[in-house]
Amino acid sequence: AEPQVAYAQDEHGRPFIVVREQGKKTRAQGIQALKNHISAAKSVAQIVRTSLGPRGLDKILVSPDGDIQVTNDGATIMQNMELESQIARLMVQLSSSQDSEIGDGTTGVVVLAGALMEQSEALIDRGIHPIRIADGYERACGVAVKALEKVADRVEFGQGAGEQEELMKTARTCLGSKIVSKAGDLFARIAVDAVLSVADLARRDVDFELIKVDGKSGGSLEDTALVKGVVVDKDFSHPQMPREVRDARIAILTCPFEPPRPKTKHKLDISSVEEYKKLQEYEKQTFENMIKRVKDCGANLVICQWGFDDEANHLLLQHDLPAVRWVGGPELELIAIATNARIVPRFEDLSPEKLGRAGLVREVGFGTTRDKMLVIEECANPRAVTVFVRGSNKMIIDEAKRALHDAICVVRNLVRDNRVVYGGGAAEIAASIAVTKAADEIATIEQYAMRAFAAALDAIPLALAENSGLSPIETLAELKSRQITEGTSVLGVDCMLTGNSDMRSAHVFDPYLSKRQQMELSTQLCRAILKIDDVIEQHNVE
Ligand code: ADP
Repeated sequence: AEPQVAYAQDEHGRPFIVVREQGKKTRAQGIQALKNHISAAKSVAQIVRTSLGPRGLDKILVSPDGDIQVTNDGATIMQNMELESQIARLMVQLSSSQDSEIGDGTTGVVVLAGALMEQSEALIDRGIHPIRIADGYERACGVAVKALEKVADRVEFGQGAGEQEELMKTARTCLGSKIVSKAGDLFARIAVDAVLSVADLARRDVDFELIKVDGKSGGSLEDTALVKGVVVDKDFSHPQMPREVRDARIAILTCPFEPPRPKTKHKLDISSVEEYKKLQEYEKQTFENMIKRVKDCGANLVICQWGFDDEANHLLLQHDLPAVRWVGGPELELIAIATNARIVPRFEDLSPEKLGRAGLVREVGFGTTRDKMLVIEECANPRAVTVFVRGSNKMIIDEAKRALHDAICVVRNLVRDNRVVYGGGAAEIAASIAVTKAADEIATIEQYAMRAFAAALDAIPLALAENSGLSPIETLAELKSRQITEGTSVLGVDCMLTGNSDMRSAHVFDPYLSKRQQMELSTQLCRAILKIDDVIEQHNVE
């Protein structure tokens, strides 16, 4: 019997699913336990299935403190669901492993795993032992991956201008299903530029650490920009300081930079105006000495973790030493990396070789808002880049950042391995055909599992068609028969209803690595679940 699935909200208003059968007190074992697991996996897959593809629907997630997120990103949806069942949690992990290794395909991997579990249920009903199913799946996965390899094409690109068309189109496909799709071309350009500026093409390596994605509400998505350097949400401490510093030599201080304050534990003994003035004079003198020391060491800009008061600020202005105050620890580190600076924790440690270098530090306004940001460019370490996302509110910015992350990952994956397979389910259909064919050549019982695997692969084009308002079965049948009769593997679901199912000419492709990872991860998970016949809850004895 189908388990009853209910959607509920916890006390914080977060959505979660209750799979009734899992809630029963009795501990199910053997086949019954397995079937419970399958239904848990299926119900999770069902939830994200409707988000798959460019016409997929978004979900609203409500966080414990009432924040609302609108997203279409599989991994995000999964991470925010409170799940009752252990198996459902495994599905969440599945999507996060796809996310951490590839960064894209997080919805697809869950849909595929759900379909594999669903298919195995029918086989179990027919009396096939779960272990045999697991073995058949593994074999089928091998065949499917080989098929992917066979149908993969290479995307050629280079660092020069005009050599990035194909990368752009791939990034564009990835952004197609997200909120940002209206600014898709800009975001695709940014993703490609960001990756190529930090990439080492000879070693096929991309240092992700060097790409920072930052955002601030205000303006619109179109104001989003890539800065070859670091962006900090701060401005120069005094409005009369110059708005830009060229050939900056930067002292980064994590110690206080202000006149010494008489500590409260020493009793102040000021009995006359005279003495007060003397104290003031002394304070001023010491701070001027500090400024002199900074300047003597060659610095023409100070970036401080701490603040200083108006008087100190004024002295800095008088002595032509622009400063930025209240910069957070992570930003300081980023600036230090980008400018090859050493952070100075004690004033006495200040020395010329610890200064960071940047060709240009300036205040920039982004978009239409009046607030300014500090942009540090032409850095000593030119490979650090920052994407600065603008949007009308935090929700849009967060989703835009996620989308950009996906697009950056897609481009990164192509730098690592430039093979692509065709999207819209074309690659899955090709793999499904190959697996079915291989199953026909096998005499053992695994052939059933292999056919089931092929049917599970079909779940991707089926879901894409359904989400686009097409008739799923008809669409799949037509595509499959055309792929076989025309001997091509580029035909996929025409989600955008352009009248063209040729995914190659429509430039809909996914990185080969991403598809392979989807298949391998979901097969692995299913095999693991098929081998579980008991869940024993460990209770903490306290
Ligand atoms: P995921 O989180 O798994 O990446 P998406 O919602 O981004 O999920 O959907 C990706 C799927 O949509 C892939 O199978 C991809 O091939 C397909 N797809 C993306 N754009 C198009 C398009 N324009 N036409 C057809 N299929 C598309």
